Amino acid sequence: MASPLTYSSLDDIQDAVSLLRVNFDTGKSRPISFRKFQIQQLYNLVKENEERLYEALAKDMNKPRSEALSGDIAPVLEECLYFLDNVDRLAKEEKTKPRLGMHALDTVKVSHDPLGVVLIIGCWNYPVQLSLVPLVGAIAAGNSVLLKLSEVSAYTAALLTELIPRYLDQSLYRVVNGAVEETTYLLEQKFDHIFYTGSPNVGKIVMSAASKHLTGVTLELGGKSPAVITPEADMQVVANRIAFGKFYNCGQICIAVDYVLCPASQLDAFVSAFTKTVKEWFGEEPKSSKDYARLVSVRHVDRIAGMIENRKTGGIQFGGQVDRDERYIAPTLITDVKFDDDVLMGDEIFGPVLPVITYNDLDEAITMIKKNPPPLVLYVFSKKQKLIDQVLQNTQSGGVCVNDTLMHQAEYSLPFGGVGNSGVGNYHGHRSFRTFTHERAILQKKQQLEFVNKVRYPPYNSSRDAI
Ligand code: NAD
Repeated sequence: MASPLTYSSLDDIQDAVSLLRVNFDTGKSRPISFRKFQIQQLYNLVKENEERLYEALAKDMNKPRSEALSGDIAPVLEECLYFLDNVDRLAKEEKTKPRLGMHALDTVKVSHDPLGVVLIIGCWNYPVQLSLVPLVGAIAAGNSVLLKLSEVSAYTAALLTELIPRYLDQSLYRVVNGAVEETTYLLEQKFDHIFYTGSPNVGKIVMSAASKHLTGVTLELGGKSPAVITPEADMQVVANRIAFGKFYNCGQICIAVDYVLCPASQLDAFVSAFTKTVKEWFGEEPKSSKDYARLVSVRHVDRIAGMIENRKTGGIQFGGQVDRDERYIAPTLITDVKFDDDVLMGDEIFGPVLPVITYNDLDEAITMIKKNPPPLVLYVFSKKQKLIDQVLQNTQSGGVCVNDTLMHQAEYSLPFGGVGNSGVGNYHGHRSFRTFTHERAILQKKQQLEFVNKVRYPPYNSSRDAI
């Protein structure tokens, strides 16, 4: 089927960057009233076109309506409302108390300046949320923005490309589309900040391109996020919450549970509880469940089907069925996986396949976690604070969610971002504002009292040479 999305020409991309630069320099994006109007418009865009967004998300990956509401629509609306309420406060200059006595009579303050022309590269799994939530923050911070939507979720990208110019000021906020060639060209242009969501591999390409202009980056990446279960945990509760974190959007979420570390003594209990949950949620034939999404493309189906087929260890407890034409892979549980199975345990799975590795001692589980780069999130399921602390104090990760999955990402009072291989920087709420602004240090003196400065001018008094 022909793609509904038209890619931007390289000339159009260059024109858009130049136009945004010229218009940013006029100062038009800076007044708070202007920022608020644009944010309100973005809110209206989502609210007035909610049904069409659901349809596009369903066409892209059969995203169930309730998942589209909670994962794509609601976060954008919430973030718009947050900034409408808080941008006046956030944008205020902050006076600081001088530490040097000689500045007691001066003005010492920090202003929160926009960075300038910002490039946001969105991702396809939450194409509304991951494009528009950073956009709200960038607008609130007073920037002009070039938004590159993901070509993979083509229906949603086509719809946003149609809608954004109807709601937002085109002289300051523009959309471009394309794949590798267009993104490569885009990255050659000079921006004042790049906000990228996607894989660590492309994250490296983005960072390297940004370094040519010494442009700052925020990289929202992924990785293999583990769930560690401790022996005394309530297995049915654990199974429900891990299933939620594995099959939401068919596992196509950067904070999906990638693999489980289960005490060997509890494996049977976990398998039986997890099997029960999946049957209750999706029935005997998950393919016919309206609540089970599809993979976004045949390429992704082939990649994950290849992982199941070519795995070096583990037995399938349930699932494993693949229907390429329907872009369907059944919810799949694989047990007795070994940590050194480089097929299942090499790359992030990003699909509905859950490998389970057993351990005998919690330190053994911690050692395995530490063999991988720090994940985007670490999940711990335990009733004992001592065990939770033992895991947290001996590991690193972008975020942590104890006794649940995914929900930490929805809590916008928390920063969201990775560390090391899982990302650089963070965002959501006031942290987005910080991400998209520069803290400009301002020391302002009066021209009076010049005699006070004599002490620091040459010729130096020898007794003060050491200063
Ligand atoms: P990707 O990084 O492969 O591609 C993203 C975009 O980059 C593509 O749309 C394409 O336009 C461009 N691109 C791809 N290859 C390129 C190249 N060689 N040069 C220049 N541009 C290129 O994204 P993906 O792998 O499809 O997305 C999944 C990954 O994103 C997973 O790792 C997931 O964890 C991560 N992710 C992270 C978050 C987060 O918030 N941290 C959210 C969603 C997804």
